[in-house]
Amino acid sequence: MALSAQGRPVAEFKGISPAQFFYKNKQLAGFQNRVRALYQTIRELVENALDATDTHMILPTIKVDITPDGEDGVFRITVEDNGIGIPPEHIPNAFGRVLYSSKYVLRQTRGTFGLGVKMAVLYAQSETGSPVEVYSTPIGRKRVFHYKIKIDIEKNVPIILEEGSYPSGDARWHGTRVSIRLTGDWGRAKNKIYEYFKRTAIIVPYSEIVFSDPEGNIFYFERATTKLPRPPRVTKPHPHGADIELINDMIKNTKARTIKDFLIKEFQSIGEVTARKILELAGIKPSTPPKSLKTHQIERLVRAFRSFKGIRPPRGDHLSPIGEDIIKIGLKAILKPEYVDAVTRRPAVHEGHAFIVEAGIAYGGAIKSSDTPLLLRYANKIPLLYDETADVSYKVLWKISTSKDRLDWSQYEVSFPAPIAVLVHICSTKIPYKGVGKESIADVPEIEREIEAALRHLLRGLKRYLLKKKKEMEESSRAVAIAKYIPDIAQSLAYITKKGDPDEIAKKLLEMLNQRLRNVKIRSIDEVVVKIE
Ligand code: ADP
Ligand code: MG
Repeated sequence: MALSAQGRPVAEFKGISPAQFFYKNKQLAGFQNRVRALYQTIRELVENALDATDTHMILPTIKVDITPDGEDGVFRITVEDNGIGIPPEHIPNAFGRVLYSSKYVLRQTRGTFGLGVKMAVLYAQSETGSPVEVYSTPIGRKRVFHYKIKIDIEKNVPIILEEGSYPSGDARWHGTRVSIRLTGDWGRAKNKIYEYFKRTAIIVPYSEIVFSDPEGNIFYFERATTKLPRPPRVTKPHPHGADIELINDMIKNTKARTIKDFLIKEFQSIGEVTARKILELAGIKPSTPPKSLKTHQIERLVRAFRSFKGIRPPRGDHLSPIGEDIIKIGLKAILKPEYVDAVTRRPAVHEGHAFIVEAGIAYGGAIKSSDTPLLLRYANKIPLLYDETADVSYKVLWKISTSKDRLDWSQYEVSFPAPIAVLVHICSTKIPYKGVGKESIADVPEIEREIEAALRHLLRGLKRYLLKKKKEMEESSRAVAIAKYIPDIAQSLAYITKKGDPDEIAKKLLEMLNQRLRNVKIRSIDEVVVKIE
C-alpha cells in the first residue's frame, strides 16, 4: 500500500483505456477460456463477414479455415469474405482500436459495439504474441491493401507492424481476409463450432459457406437460395427512445432553425401537428432556435415525448427480418424435415425501440425425436448457443409459469418424444441481452408476447397438418385391409358374373382403390400395391 509523506495510507488514482478494460475483463465479451475464445473468434469474424455482405445486398461467399499452427493448441483462423471491403485508412483502427466501428448508426447489424474483432486480436496477442493480418479490397478499388496490426493496450491505439498494397489479380474482386493466430481448445470447442455453422447456415441460406476444420474435414454449405432479406435502412431515432444526451447531440448537428422543424426533421413519427402538441406540452415556443434550448427545457421535452400518447409507434424499416420464405428454405436445406412453416410478425415496440419476432417450425423427416423440441435461437441473424435456459424463448416454449393458459403441446397434437424443431428470431437495434456476451435474451413482456403469438400460430398450422396426416394414415391402413381381399373378391366376381378374367378385375378394383387414395395423397400406396402382388 502507498503511504503519504506523513506515513498515512493514500489511494492511488488512474484511468484505464477501453483496451485495458476489455483486456482485463475478457469474460465480458466471451473470451474467458480457450474453449470459448476459439468459438467466439470464429463467431466475431464470421459475423463481420456477413455484415459486410448481406447488409449491402451481396450474396455472401465465406471461407473459414482453422489450421493447427506450430505448438500444440495453437491455431491459425482465417476468414475470407466477398464483402464491401474496408477502406485502407480505416483498417488500423477497425482492427486495432477498441470501440471503433462503422456500425454506430440506427440500423440492424450483427455487430454493434465496435468490440468483437478487437477482442480476438487482444486475446491472440496476449496468448501467442502474433498480430492480426488483414487483406482487403474495397468495392471499386483495384488493389489489395494488407496490414499486420497489434493493439497498444495502454493507449488503445493500433500498432502497425507492416502495411502495403499490391494490384489485385481480379479487378472485379472485393472483400476481406482476416487471419488470427491464437491458442484454443479445439477438442472441447468443436461441437459448439459445428453447431454454430449449422445454425448459421439455417438463418442465412442465401450464403455459401466453406469451413475446413483442423482435423482436415471440409464442410460445404451450399447456397440454397439467391433471395436476400430486405436490407435494413438507417433511420432516425424515435421520440420514445430519446433522452437528454441524445437530444443534445442531435441539436449540435442539426441544420434546423426552429425547434419545431428540428422535431419534424430529425425524429421519425413526428409531423407538423404532433410537433406543435409536444412543444405545447413541454412549454416551448415552436419558433425557438434549437441551439438556444436550456437543459431544463430539454428535460421537459423528453418528458413530453414520453407522456404524449399521440406519437405513432416506431416503424420497422431499419430492421431486416429474414422473411418467411427464407426461414423455410433454411430449415428445409439443413434439417430436411417433412413439414416446415414460418411466420414474420409485424413490428412491435419495447421502450421506444421497434423489434420484429419471426419464428419457424420444422417437423419429422430427418429430425430426430427427442423429449424436448430442438430450440434454435437467433438475434439479428446471429445464432445464440449458450445459456439456453435463461432465454425468453425457452421460457415461452415451456411456460414454466403457473398461468392457466400455459403452452400445452398435446393441445397441438404433439406428444413427446417428437421430431420437432422451433426457430425464434428477434431483430432489433436494441436487443435486451442478459449479458455483454450476447448469448441470451431477457424476458421483456412485449417480446415474450410476440414470441408466444408467433409460436401458437405455427403450432395451429402444425396441428392441422398432423391431424390430416393421422386421417391419411387411417385411410391407408383401411386400404391395406381392403386390398388384402381384392384377389378373393375378384375371383368371386368373375365366378358370379361369369365374365372377365379375375386378374383383370383385381387390377380394376385396385385402380379404384388407388383413385380414392390419390385424393388423400397417400405416399404409401406403393406399399399397398407391393403387398398385393
Ligand atoms: P463491430 O462489428 O461491432 O462494428 P468489430 O470490432 O467486429 O466491431 O469491427 C470493427 C469494424 O471493422 C466494423 O464496424 C467494420 O467496419 C470493419 N470490419 C471488420 N471486419 C470486416 C469485414 N470482414 N469486412 C468489412 N468490414 C469489416
Ligand atoms: Mg463485429
